Amino acid sequence: LGGEILYNSSVERVIEDSGKVVGVRLENGTEISANYVISDAYGYDTFMKMIDERHLTDRLRSMYSKPIDRMMMGLHVSFGVNMDLSDKPNAISFFLDEPIEIAGDNCSIINLLNYSYDKKLAPKGKTSIKAMYDTYYSYWEELSKDQKKYEEEKAIIASRTIEAIERFIPGIGEAVEVTDVATPITTERFTSNARGYGSKEDFRLRDTLKGFLNKPMTLKSLKNFFVIGHSIGGTNLYGCAAMGRNTIRRICKMEHRNFVAS
Ligand SMILES: Cc1cc2nc3c(=O)[nH]c(=O)nc-3n(C[C@H](O)[C@H](O)[C@H](O)COP(=O)(O)OP(=O)(O)OC[C@H]3O[C@@H](n4cnc5c(N)ncnc54)[C@H](O)[C@@H]3O)c2cc1C
Repeated sequence: LGGEILYNSSVERVIEDSGKVVGVRLENGTEISANYVISDAYGYDTFMKMIDERHLTDRLRSMYSKPIDRMMMGLHVSFGVNMDLSDKPNAISFFLDEPIEIAGDNCSIINLLNYSYDKKLAPKGKTSIKAMYDTYYSYWEELSKDQKKYEEEKAIIASRTIEAIERFIPGIGEAVEVTDVATPITTERFTSNARGYGSKEDFRLRDTLKGFLNKPMTLKSLKNFFVIGHSIGGTNLYGCAAMGRNTIRRICKMEHRNFVAS
């Protein structure tokens, strides 16, 4: 459609003039002018780093002063195994007689995803599998200050996970060819997403409804600026994509142009 994607180009600041956005400044100092800016970045970065503090509503201010440490599905332990698991279900929960310790938590269930339904994810006869755990952001934040300890903890978690799965799928430990452990710090490095923010009281029905309707968020004092994505209530891939689409529809209306889409 004529758009251009700039890779490795992190936005550091939204530039404004007289209460209206006029572009963005990248981390490398490059400034890109624009009539409209749509942010799909991690909510904390959008509201606390990219725009001036005076644009924040009381609710946003309150929300971002309350970090949530616990992260659901924050720890991903993946293996490539030289084993055909296509006779097993796509998602399996293993209930452990003896719990294992994972990142300071006692864990008695391993939830395993078996990707054998996607033939592109492993060579013939081999399988990609992944276990996911809830975890604490602060645990990994602290550990990542010491690279050696951080790597050691990841290796321990990988071996405890595969040993536990071995109790249900004998021989799988020997069959491991590839191991990858992604922590909340890994996710942050790759996508800029980190922990959540806000307590229950910060979420109002009106905002939840807006999320369901896939509408972008706008700020009263900053014209032509839109915020979309999961951090403002976009639900899953389709909801977030619909928020982007609806933003373009709205901009077309503001520009008196027809919105045409397949
Ligand atoms: C473990 C897990 C499993 C999931 N499974 C499913 C599923 O099965 N089905 C489903 O529908 N959803 C699933 N989701 C949810 C889904 O992944 C998210 O809702 C969706 O990816 C959010 O999309 P988004 O565009 O808002 O944000 P993101 O996908 O985070 O996209 C934001 C983009 O902005 C970029 N960015 C960030 N900061 C900057 C910056 N400063 N400058 C420039 N670019 C920046 C990032 O690099 C990233 O590419 C899952 C989520 C998790 C964590």
